[in-house]
Amino acid sequence: MPMDFLEFSQICETLEDTPGRIAMTALVRDALSSLDEADIPLFIRYLMGRPFPDWGQEKIGVGPGSVYDAVAYVAGRDRRAVVSAVNRSGDPGKTVESLLAKKEQTSFFTESLTLADIGRDFTLLAATGGNKSQKEKDRVLRRLFANASPLEGRYLARLLLGELRIGIGEGTMRDAIAGAFGVSPAAVEHACQASNDLGEVALIARSGEDALNEVHVEPFRPLKMMLAKQGTVTGMLSETGVLAAEYKYDGTRFQFHKVGGTCRMYSRRLEEVTHAIPDVVAMLDAATPHDIILDGEVIAVRDGRPLPFQYVLRRFRRKHDIASHIEEITLKPNIFDMLWIDGETLIDLPFAERRQRLEAAVSDTYVAPQLVSGDEDEIDLLYRTALDDGHEGIMIKDPRSPYTPGVRGKFWVKIKPAVDTIDLVVTGAEWGEGKRAHVFGSFLLSCLGEGGSFIPLSKVATGFSDEALQDMYAALSGLVISEEGKQVHVEPQIVVEVGYAEVQKSPSYAGGFALRFPRFIRLRDDKSPEEIESLRMIEERFAAQSAR
Ligand code: AMP
Repeated sequence: MPMDFLEFSQICETLEDTPGRIAMTALVRDALSSLDEADIPLFIRYLMGRPFPDWGQEKIGVGPGSVYDAVAYVAGRDRRAVVSAVNRSGDPGKTVESLLAKKEQTSFFTESLTLADIGRDFTLLAATGGNKSQKEKDRVLRRLFANASPLEGRYLARLLLGELRIGIGEGTMRDAIAGAFGVSPAAVEHACQASNDLGEVALIARSGEDALNEVHVEPFRPLKMMLAKQGTVTGMLSETGVLAAEYKYDGTRFQFHKVGGTCRMYSRRLEEVTHAIPDVVAMLDAATPHDIILDGEVIAVRDGRPLPFQYVLRRFRRKHDIASHIEEITLKPNIFDMLWIDGETLIDLPFAERRQRLEAAVSDTYVAPQLVSGDEDEIDLLYRTALDDGHEGIMIKDPRSPYTPGVRGKFWVKIKPAVDTIDLVVTGAEWGEGKRAHVFGSFLLSCLGEGGSFIPLSKVATGFSDEALQDMYAALSGLVISEEGKQVHVEPQIVVEVGYAEVQKSPSYAGGFALRFPRFIRLRDDKSPEEIESLRMIEERFAAQSAR
């Protein structure tokens, strides 16, 4: 039987009240085993709070304002009443639930919603783009909320606002899938890294372990990027004996896909940016005759020296006037990995082997030079040369390691001068004062907790130029979920990099830590909220700092 969205909502509610990973895993596992095939991918994605496959370009594209309008319409209230109710409770999901409960007493008929109905409408919302389509989006939203029971309204609103936060992490999900279909969590993880869609992986898991092992990387389905940790040359050498060292370029990550005459470029957040940087696409296209997926970093250069990171971002963001900007800012790709070639998946090969294959397949103009060495002095020298040449530092990599998409593991370590900076997501803001009264003046920053929740860590109000505050306002003003006095609560979407003096223990923040002397460095719109610092990493920073 197709799953009703009500049943899904009940499962969400139970999960929210279920403490502990093991019990959560069992709950999801049992629900999965009895699902219709077609519902499996939707069930998994929605539980993770993601309407679409992670590799896809689809976005629901609905802001809090539209959600509140639709709820107001259906509940027969005016919009201001809805907004002030959300502001009072600070919980949009529960507010929608109680507003719909009042409506329920007066309406006679609602159709029941299935998971598939929700799926269809999400696709419809994503497909209606542009400003003219706002009416169409409003129509879909009204219909959805009109047919939603109060509990369904709670989870529908949270899904639409990107605020599901049931606290299920990918690890729990993988274990649940493995348990439901009698396959190993490792096979699930592997398939998930290659296909970048846990929903589809769950479906494949039904056919067994062999089917999972047959999941390969596919062109035009971007993989999550492999990430780096902080560490030291000595520490890594003691584990690996030799390491591969490259410059750490201060630009923007890219993933380039090419099949025949078709090339596509993806940003670090896996958004397609082919049209913003046609010059780089052409360079890479010309650099290889192969069907290929390449990983690298684009930098901006002038007179042979790298320009600051902001220049590259400016190009990535451009939608118009691209030609004139190509003349202004010259970009250069630096390729450091190859994930797939001519139908063959390479992510499980050791890095040293991928590197050899890369050098054989791509002209060396754009391949990042590499030093393979076990000699600390030699590596230190490379580090100093990197800084002299205007780069950020070096990356050191374990030559034996596979490519692990989305993992910030020990295989890649970044070495850069000791300024302590940290990437966090903005979850709140406060209106400014005086000449800054029309923009936000300070921001609440959160790190990543267990299961994808966000945990407040610090407020930041220094380090902003007027222009930076404008940029912050432009980025956040459409994401306001609720407002109380001068404080607003925003959808967790905008990542910023901040500097700080030290990590402190703090009883005033839920995670138990706070930053001392935080200062804004830059907006990181190349990073997604899933990539920010986790509470566990903050604890590690705290411990390392105490050790110093
Ligand atoms: P961070 O953003 O500080 O966590 O550092 C990791 C990032 O450095 C990667 O995501 C890349 O965007 C960038 N990077 C620059 N050069 C390299 C390189 N040679 N290998 C891997 N990543 C690099």
